[in-house]
Amino acid sequence: METELGERIAASFRQLDDFIGHWRASHPTTRLYCQSACSACCQLAVHCSLPEAAIIAVELDQNQQRALGIYVERLHVASGELKSLPEYLRRHRLDLGPCPFLGADRSCTIYGQRPLSCRALLATRPPGWCGIDLSELDPLDQRLFQQSLDPQLVAWPTHYLASSQDLARQLEQQLLVSMQQACGWGASGNLPLLVWLTRQHALHRCSSDQASALLDRLKLSTSPLINLITDQH
Ligand code: SF4
Repeated sequence: METELGERIAASFRQLDDFIGHWRASHPTTRLYCQSACSACCQLAVHCSLPEAAIIAVELDQNQQRALGIYVERLHVASGELKSLPEYLRRHRLDLGPCPFLGADRSCTIYGQRPLSCRALLATRPPGWCGIDLSELDPLDQRLFQQSLDPQLVAWPTHYLASSQDLARQLEQQLLVSMQQACGWGASGNLPLLVWLTRQHALHRCSSDQASALLDRLKLSTSPLINLITDQH
C-alpha cells in the first residue's frame, strides 16, 4: 500500500508542477511573486493529507526532528484553546511561528517532498501581503486591496492563484480516496502534526479504530487540527 501511495503522490506532485509550469508559460504578463528563499507563506498554517505527511516523516535529520518537536509542543499548548478552524488559522499566524521545515536560510528543507498545498500557493501580490490577516485591516485598505485583485485569476478574497489551488485540492482528495480504499480510513490536517503523529505513533499504519482511539487519547478528535475520515463520516 505504501509503495503504491508513494507513486501516486509523486505523480500528483508532477501533475501539479507541470500545470504550474504551463500556466506560467501561457500567462507571461501575469507576475507571480514567489521566488527562492521567500518564506512569507511558510508562516501560515499548512494543510496536507496523511499520505503526504507519511512520505515526509520517513527521512528527517536531527535538526528537522528537533524543530518539529518544538513546533508540536507549542501547538499542543495553543490547541487547548482552539475551538474552530478560523480561530486556529488566526492563532497560527500570530503565535505559532514558521513551519518547522523552514531552514535558517529561509528555504524549505523538504522542498522535493513539500505537500501539494505548498506547491499550489502562488502569490499575485508582493510577499508583504502573504502574512496579513485581512480581517484586521482598516475597512478602506481591505476594500482597496480586494478591488485591486483580478477575480478571474485569484481565490478571492485572497491574492493567491485559484487554478493551482483548485487542482491541488482535487489531487489531495484523490490521495485521500486512495488511502480510504486501501486502509478503510484517511486523514488530513496540520502538516507538522501529521508528520509527528506518523513518526511518534505510526498513525499511518493504524486501523480506523486505532486511529480514532489515538486521536481521542491525544485530545485531537474534536480539534480543528486534524480531520479524520472514516466510514461513519
Ligand atoms: S513545507 Fe516547506 S514550503 Fe511548505 S510551509 Fe513548510 S517550509 Fe514552507
